[in-house]
Amino acid sequence: MNICLFCAISAGKVPAHVVYEDDRTVAFLDIHPSAPGHTLIIPRTHVARIEDLSAEDAAALFAALHRLAKPIREAVGAEAATVGINDGPGSGQEVPHVHIHVIPRRRGDGGTLIQLVARTATRGTSLADVADKIRKKIAQPTNG
Ligand code: 5GP
Ligand code: ZN
Repeated sequence: MNICLFCAISAGKVPAHVVYEDDRTVAFLDIHPSAPGHTLIIPRTHVARIEDLSAEDAAALFAALHRLAKPIREAVGAEAATVGINDGPGSGQEVPHVHIHVIPRRRGDGGTLIQLVARTATRGTSLADVADKIRKKIAQPTNG
């Protein structure tokens, strides 16, 4: 397929269980759900990385999450959800079109915390140094 899979779903050219759509976003069920109700929310405009989203699409994406989080949870009787984005191939992102995973959760479901997805050793790393580096990157004219 020449066109990106999620662009094709957004255009209605590939079938999906769409649960919500508006001018800028579409939400549909993940074909291999990690839990009942596992939903993906995408911008209609194709970008691979979070940083490439327009400000309008970034806002629309979070607005869609805000609109959908509770109905998704309630539809499957889940008490909680884990929400996340795999941003880049190094994180395991397989479909190179930005998408938010909404994974309904419940106590005892055998899952884990989002902060356990990386286990890189941090011993010897100064939080102050890292914070300083991030602040300097944010201040660079090319970043924002
Ligand atoms: P990623 O690793 O890129 O964050 O996750 C991509 C997700 O897209 C996976 O959870 C996968 O199950 C889902 N997916 C892959 N192909 C399809 C498809 O054709 N339809 C739907 N609805 N989901 C898909
Ligand atoms: Zn796409």
